[in-house]
Amino acid sequence: MRCRRCRGAAVIEVRRHNAAFCGDCFERHVREQVKRAIRDHAMLEPDDRVLVAVSGGKDSLGLWDLLLGLGYRASGLYLGLGIGEYSTRSGDVVRAFAGERGAELIEVDLRRDYGYDIPTAGRKGSRSTCAVCGLSKRYVFNRAALEGGFDVVATGHNLDDEAATLLGNTLRWQTEYIARQFPVLAEREGMVRKVKPLYRLSELETAAYAFIRGIEYVVEECPLVAGNTQLRYKEVMNALEATSVGTKTQFLLGYVERAAPLFRDGDGPPVELTPCERCGQPTTARFCAFCRARAQVLGERLGPAERDPGTERQTAEEMSSEVLPAELYGAGRAG
Ligand code: SF4
Ligand SMILES: [Zn+2]
Ligand SMILES: [Zn+2]
Repeated sequence: MRCRRCRGAAVIEVRRHNAAFCGDCFERHVREQVKRAIRDHAMLEPDDRVLVAVSGGKDSLGLWDLLLGLGYRASGLYLGLGIGEYSTRSGDVVRAFAGERGAELIEVDLRRDYGYDIPTAGRKGSRSTCAVCGLSKRYVFNRAALEGGFDVVATGHNLDDEAATLLGNTLRWQTEYIARQFPVLAEREGMVRKVKPLYRLSELETAAYAFIRGIEYVVEECPLVAGNTQLRYKEVMNALEATSVGTKTQFLLGYVERAAPLFRDGDGPPVELTPCERCGQPTTARFCAFCRARAQVLGERLGPAERDPGTERQTAEEMSSEVLPAELYGAGRAG
């Protein structure tokens, strides 16, 4: 097998591109895909302060590595979920990565800063473990970005993650979720821009990139992943891909390039947001979904709005991955 670019010995084959690459040319291919994603969707300006949500997995650390390599001012944000040894190891890996590169790392710990951890929230609240985990991540990323003066939050969702989420939303025709599943979510009052620069790269490619770059990452999956619906959609997509190479790419990139505007146009007027009476973050109710979930877990009372969910609508952020909450960190291992 020869490298498509330099004709040297290839180390990886990318079947959907019908191409093989040597290590150097593969790194270049990955960088080109990321640059194209950023350019096509105006994800980042050269001077933006970027906050990369890092879990310790290959996608988010690979993304951080790529953005630093492309010259962006990229800091990391690690959220401690309190999931035993898995979280301990994830935190260690992220700290080592940041230390080696001299990159800024912001750490938030759910137990220390908000009084609960994910296993406890899964047992005590009304949401599933992954749902409350996804909600916590979305909230903390946005709040940390606002408080730190960042312009944008970048997450490590790859093509497989996005295709699986799109499949799940399409099977139920959840058109509002579909409309918001896009490589970039624009900034709006109290919410920073969110971008997914890896959406053109498959899981195989992000894993190979991490390997070739010598990035140490947590390979194990989150021990709570069993209830995660996204994994089932990934399995279906992989089965289709095995017999029909390119299905995932056509499904996702076809949506992004051709179908997404159809859903966005039918999206209706923007939802009006007001500050949460507890934390000040934008919401459509008196209290935001995060404060309501947290109060439930801690056994606190917030006020009447908490008992009257019929009067509220979810914000774009609350909706964007409500069905498949693990997607925020880039799934599979998700944490
Ligand atoms: S699988 Fe992902 S979303 Fe679910 S609890 Fe673990 S880290 Fe959170
Ligand atoms: Zn080459
Ligand atoms: Zn709140």
